Amino acid sequence: MSDVLAVAEHRQGELRDVSGELVTAGQELTDSTGGALHLAIINGAVEEFADDLSLDGVDTIHTVDHGEEFNHDVYLQTLTQLYDELDPEYVVTPHTVNGMDYAPALAAEVDLPLAPDVIDFTNGDGLTVTREQYGGKVETTIDVAGDGAVVTVRPTEWSRTETAGEATVEAVDAGIDDGAVGSTVTGFEAAAMGDIDISEAEFIVSVGRGIEEEENLDLIEDLADALDATFAASRPIVDNGWVEPGRQVGQSGKVVTPDVYIAIGISGAVQHVAGMKTSDTIVAINTDPDAPIFDIADYGIVDDLFDVVPQLIEQFE
Ligand SMILES: Cc1cc2nc3c(=O)[nH]c(=O)nc-3n(C[C@H](O)[C@H](O)[C@H](O)COP(=O)(O)OP(=O)(O)OC[C@H]3O[C@@H](n4cnc5c(N)ncnc54)[C@H](O)[C@@H]3O)c2cc1C
Repeated sequence: MSDVLAVAEHRQGELRDVSGELVTAGQELTDSTGGALHLAIINGAVEEFADDLSLDGVDTIHTVDHGEEFNHDVYLQTLTQLYDELDPEYVVTPHTVNGMDYAPALAAEVDLPLAPDVIDFTNGDGLTVTREQYGGKVETTIDVAGDGAVVTVRPTEWSRTETAGEATVEAVDAGIDDGAVGSTVTGFEAAAMGDIDISEAEFIVSVGRGIEEEENLDLIEDLADALDATFAASRPIVDNGWVEPGRQVGQSGKVVTPDVYIAIGISGAVQHVAGMKTSDTIVAINTDPDAPIFDIADYGIVDDLFDVVPQLIEQFE
């Protein structure tokens, strides 16, 4: 019987959805270890967050109030202390910008292997994790050596349970050494969003690297106009500076949930799919019949976008 420690995530006063997902992932691990599920909530509105995350399966919530936002040193010191006290077999953190910041440091500090960006796992004789590689083209299963691990789980891969639980909430004095805290969050500056919030859009026409040249984007914008849809893009198009960052769909862009999402010249890399896979209806246009976008598309056209899109515009106009 060994315990599991999960770590909640929040930003600017809001719990992030991945916190509830982590509870489910942690609970799956305790189902196999037979131990207790601990949840650490570090900084922010800890009491409010603890209320929200007192979900079925959580035994104890440990709250640490040492500031408002994420801080690498505060998280590392706190989690090292909790690890020493609780002696969990597994520590589960989100595979997010914050999680990727402290999880490797924690693994090194407590001398556990790190299993990053996990999308699934089984725990029998030992932990076996599933990860995606080569932009989602390959899934690998990896046996994690040793007794225990720090596991970072990919957001949206587990679902939050809505069944309330009766977790014990304990405020922890983490005894933070402020002299060893090397950075402080002094504020947030929102990235330029452009003129529209694509996360609210009901109909999206989105373009990827298949468009080849910036001047070809007019074609896709014409289709978006003909359909009265919102224009969006994959990350390379944004990285090229062809489209404003507020229109990027994906893990490091926006999560969108439209009724219809048309992906044109987009391969369907996992980081893109993370931002649009819950669209009601997905249509993909791609010359490559093996492009991963077709794995999640409801309708697919395997053809050259430069032939297909003008015909669609003509039809819809
Ligand atoms: C930490 C991290 C975060 C990331 N975040 C994001 C993110 O938020 N959003 C995002 O999109 N990506 C993100 N990425 C990048 C991601 O891994 C992919 O590189 C990216 O999504 C690929 O974009 P694409 O599909 O437009 O290009 P490609 O993968 O190059 O695909 C282009 C597609 O166009 C097709 N094509 C080519 N010519 C034509 C034609 N004439 N007609 C029709 N189809 C054609 C090709 O067959 C191909 O499938 C991230 C990566 C990392 C490492």
